Amino acid sequence: MIPRLLLATRNAGKAREFSLLLQGSGFEVTTLDAEGIEGDVTESGKTFRENACLKAAGYAVDDRFLVVADDSGLEVDALGGAPGPLSARFGGEGATDADKVDLLLSRLQDVPPEARSARFRCVIAIASGRKVVGLCEGVCDGVISLEPRGSGGFGYDPVFYLPELKRTMAELTLEEKNRISHRARAAREAAGVLQRLRRGMQP
Ligand code: IMP
Repeated sequence: MIPRLLLATRNAGKAREFSLLLQGSGFEVTTLDAEGIEGDVTESGKTFRENACLKAAGYAVDDRFLVVADDSGLEVDALGGAPGPLSARFGGEGATDADKVDLLLSRLQDVPPEARSARFRCVIAIASGRKVVGLCEGVCDGVISLEPRGSGGFGYDPVFYLPELKRTMAELTLEEKNRISHRARAAREAAGVLQRLRRGMQP
């Protein structure tokens, strides 16, 4: 029987990216919504790592699954690393992705192009039976553009400009994003950890 891997996210964009990235890990990938798992784990940690561990261990109550959870966000140097682990909540409860992008651009309105450096960071925790058994991290560097461009991806992608590619993250195809993104980098490391765990599970 193929062991199952539960992606502890309700974000459809992330679930799509992870499903592709973890395809070859030897696990059958499923999600909270596909399994009808209700409830949320409060992200009360101060760092990406703490939140990823809280989420992975919080959903690893069911021994049918190994659980993968991530915490990710945008660190903007001109804002002292904000919004950071608060990226999803930037702009308050109910703010849409477009609201968050607008708020970010307004906070940076007096910041010149050369001082708009930023990075996406992703920490992935892997848990089994409420215990964290693996931690991986990935970073993607870029610059916050002056205005949004592109319709792919999610979140801050339309204003995350990649100087080497001369496009925003939202102008990349999913395959292109999955080659260079913070989540892809962390997930590639996670796929290696999962393969080792998988080998350890074989009789
Ligand atoms: P999390 O679900 O708590 O990890 O929140 C991550 C938040 O950071 C998301 O809601 C987005 O606002 C932002 N974020 C994380 N990864 C990305 C990405 O790949 N593109 C754009 N925004 C992202």
